Amino acid sequence: MKDIIIIGGGLAGLINAIRLAEAGLNVLLLEKKTYPFHRVCGEYISNEVVPFLESINAFPYELEPSSIREFTLTACSGASASMPLDLGGFGVSRHALDHFLYQRAQQAGAEICQQTAVQSVDFSEGHFRVTLPQNEVVEARLVIGAYGKRARLDKQLDRPFIQQRSPYIGVKYHMRVDFPDDIIALHNFPGGYCGISRVEDGRYNVCYLGSRAQLRKHGSIEAMEAKVLHQNPYLKNLWHSAEFLLDQPEVINEISFAPKQPVVNHILMSGDTAGLITPLCGNGMAMAIHSAKILSDLIIQHYSPVGFDRTALETQYADAWKRQFAARLWVGRNTQRLFGAKISSEIGVQLVKRWRSAARSIMRYTHGEPF
Ligand SMILES: Cc1cc2nc3c(=O)[nH]c(=O)nc-3n(C[C@H](O)[C@H](O)[C@H](O)COP(=O)(O)OP(=O)(O)OC[C@H]3O[C@@H](n4cnc5c(N)ncnc54)[C@H](O)[C@@H]3O)c2cc1C
Repeated sequence: MKDIIIIGGGLAGLINAIRLAEAGLNVLLLEKKTYPFHRVCGEYISNEVVPFLESINAFPYELEPSSIREFTLTACSGASASMPLDLGGFGVSRHALDHFLYQRAQQAGAEICQQTAVQSVDFSEGHFRVTLPQNEVVEARLVIGAYGKRARLDKQLDRPFIQQRSPYIGVKYHMRVDFPDDIIALHNFPGGYCGISRVEDGRYNVCYLGSRAQLRKHGSIEAMEAKVLHQNPYLKNLWHSAEFLLDQPEVINEISFAPKQPVVNHILMSGDTAGLITPLCGNGMAMAIHSAKILSDLIIQHYSPVGFDRTALETQYADAWKRQFAARLWVGRNTQRLFGAKISSEIGVQLVKRWRSAARSIMRYTHGEPF
């Protein structure tokens, strides 16, 4: 019997694995893909995570991340405004970062099985039975759900958000372009917004949240980009001047920002599995890392000789998660209303230009303090 099985090896899963394995616990992480791989993500990480990643020797200095200090916003029309970022962030691809953390988790002593998609999880008589492909079963005292935004497991667990269809799609490219290396820009277009910022090796991440309805209307990603994204002159120019580095874009759909629960059927949810903040906040990765820190701290206490029981672990984690993240998710959901439409995106630009203290407050409310 394992102490802990972690389902999913993104940031939340890998950080939990590093900390719990280093605390001497018997950890099995199950990941359905094989590292390294690309994911849809803007790849801008808020600096709030730096002290923590350094403290566990997991800051990816060797990947030479970019350093990002300024924010530019453009409206659908191309009107623009810029402001410095109070905290700032760094840019590194998930292809490189997740692979780096995977190696770090192995070094910490976690057992990691790749190409292993968990089929189901059942809890009875005080422990979990986790079913793998070919009906193999592994057992554990605790299970962490770190399988991201949405998975078949959510259906099995009958989570309410899975019943609703989401109107969003996400698309990511890596490009070489002539663009400053210390700016993150968010460009609005009708129905969505597109971020650009530098990652390692002189590459730029270009990632957008668009609408499923627009994709259906225009028939292909390429046609939708030409007809919809390129209404913003910055995006048109970007597409025409860039060298595209991936064979094809990474694409996902059904991106839900609906509220979720951090504990379901005794499974402790971490990262996006507990709740996804809207990408315009540039903070989902920091939240995934922070939620893994909070959860792994509590699990280490749970397993200590004077530790508390499962019920206290679940209650304390749910309370801590809500205190730290619930308000941020709410602000993120509501701020997103200013994006992806002609008039409201002009208001967003005016906010950055003329009411900088209001724009700063929104950023503060969607971000945490360095931890
Ligand atoms: C369009 C878009 C842009 C974004 N841009 C940014 C940004 O610039 N900055 C930022 O901070 N955040 C951004 N985010 C949010 C960020 O990507 C997520 O918050 C972050 O990836 C969450 O990490 P995670 O570990 O929770 O999940 P993930 O990184 O999604 O990892 C989940 C893992 O679980 C695995 N998995 C799934 N199902 C199973 C299964 N059944 N069995 C085994 N493994 C499984 C998956 O293969 C995956 O590796 C963006 C999100 C979107 C949609």
